[in-house]
Amino acid sequence: MIIMNSDATEEEVSTVVQEVRKYGLRADVSRGEYRTVIGLVGDESKIPFSHFAVLPGVKEAFMVETPYKLISREYARVSETENEHRVVKVGDVAFGGEEPVFIAGPCAVESRDQLFRIAEGVKKAGAHMLRGGIFKPRTSVHSFQGLGSNGAEGAMEALGWLREAGDIFGMPVVTEIRGEAHVDLIADYVDVIQIGARNMYDQDLITTVARKHKPILYKRHFGAGIEEFLSFAEYMVAEENRDIILCERGVLPLGKGKSYSRYTLDVTAVPAIRKETYLPIIVDPSHAAGRRDLIFDLSCAGIAAGACGLIIEVHHNPVEALVDGQQQITPDELGEVIVACRKVHEAVKHRKE
Ligand code: PEP
Ligand code: MN
Repeated sequence: MIIMNSDATEEEVSTVVQEVRKYGLRADVSRGEYRTVIGLVGDESKIPFSHFAVLPGVKEAFMVETPYKLISREYARVSETENEHRVVKVGDVAFGGEEPVFIAGPCAVESRDQLFRIAEGVKKAGAHMLRGGIFKPRTSVHSFQGLGSNGAEGAMEALGWLREAGDIFGMPVVTEIRGEAHVDLIADYVDVIQIGARNMYDQDLITTVARKHKPILYKRHFGAGIEEFLSFAEYMVAEENRDIILCERGVLPLGKGKSYSRYTLDVTAVPAIRKETYLPIIVDPSHAAGRRDLIFDLSCAGIAAGACGLIIEVHHNPVEALVDGQQQITPDELGEVIVACRKVHEAVKHRKE
């Protein structure tokens, strides 16, 4: 990291940036009110910091050990370009703002009628954003893959419904991207692009999505440590896209034999991640639980732990859902979750940071 003097000129900044490039690294230039800070993107061990420290306009040049410095609260503090907690705005919806955000909708978009019915229901229940899977990541090739898998026309039709439902019911929309081939297509229709747990490690996909400069809902892989999760989030911020909403959605459960939940919601990860990064984090109780009778409790736990929102799967008739019926709740049940979570949020929102 290179901290410039408060009176450093543009020319001095650009000389430092050019020097950084000579060593094969990229420079992330953050211009704060009082000073400019240059974060280095790439292998810092190649950099002779003592040489940089004596360049005109440079106050300090030093190595940052953490693998996710650009998203760290420390970097925000030093560069003063970022609050220690960033608010990611999606239209009128603010992740990390005063109020918790509720994203709700079906696991998969099944038809226009199904989507519109659920969109109307979740809106009435108090949801702010609409979710709906169109390209579903599935373990078995024999299960429903989402309407996006019916070719380009099927995908565009379903994406069009999602956009229309969002516009009619006044909610920004989010859908998951499964591969790089769909980046342009999906970006044309949605407000937020979701990168699912299974793709958390896909460096090329996350970088390509980040370059679209749209907000990204980025889910933690069920086997990923916190450091890995944040290190991969750093790839997107290195593309100068800081509109990243992190999502904890459960890790692999412990033990042998019968498991009582699909995954284990890692509640600890929520405050731990908040200490590390300024990026907002939400919780997905649906995929963590895998069963609808745990959604209320895990939702409250997520908000109590410091999540700034939730993403919840909702279906008007869960038993008939083509995917994840066992974990979807009804719009009425969502309403109960939202009422309770607002109270929980009220009780914990003045936490010490
Ligand atoms: C989803 O949100 O539809 C989904 C598949 O979630 P995850 O990537 O967390 O499994
Ligand atoms: Mn699902």
